[in-house]
Amino acid sequence: MFDRRGLMLILSSPSGAGKTSISRTILQQDPNLKLSISVTTRPKRANEVDGVDYFFKTVDEFNEMRDKGELLEWAEVHGNYYGTPKAAIEIELDAGRDVLFDIDYQGAIQLYERCPEDIIGVFILPPSIAELKHRLERRADDSAEVIRRRLTTAQQELKQWESYDYIIVNHDLDDSCAAVASILHSARMMPSRQKNLSNFISGLQSELDSIL
Ligand code: 5GP
Repeated sequence: MFDRRGLMLILSSPSGAGKTSISRTILQQDPNLKLSISVTTRPKRANEVDGVDYFFKTVDEFNEMRDKGELLEWAEVHGNYYGTPKAAIEIELDAGRDVLFDIDYQGAIQLYERCPEDIIGVFILPPSIAELKHRLERRADDSAEVIRRRLTTAQQELKQWESYDYIIVNHDLDDSCAAVASILHSARMMPSRQKNLSNFISGLQSELDSIL
């Protein structure tokens, strides 16, 4: 067991605000940050890989995991179920690795309630509704009905902005990634995240005692 317990970095946003692109970039840049891979009952998109993007489950399989208490949080989003498997997260946090959660506001609220000391929550906003719509339409797999549903959900999601620690308006991918990286960097320097420094600080104190 490491001295430093990992922190939980939540990224939430309305669908199409660019959160997945931000997550991918941050994960590539930071070897100490691991992605929490959710389970979902949503159909797999053509470009997705089971076990990499999500663990794709039937509704029965999902319900079984939920009923056995294997999910840290779960929610219904756009008519499908999504949830965070608990076991993998504990392993990463105990090993001192930080975990990134790409989850919606319902999941974020549950994690804030369950693990308040471990959470840093970031809410990503689209620069405009036109851009949000454009990004959703570019994702060729989703039907007009699915896109409309996601825009309807966005209305609900936008109301949640004050539940988070930080808000980023995603005008530019590089700028947004830099902002998330700096939030993570600062969070790692909080005293509660640096308990491994207690021996070092005791050493400094002893040295001062010896010269004063
Ligand atoms: P998508 O279907 O576009 O991959 O994701 C739809 C929404 O579900 C996104 O807002 C995403 O953040 C959210 N989501 C993905 N995984 C989880 C999860 O495990 N829990 C919750 N609460 N939301 C999730």
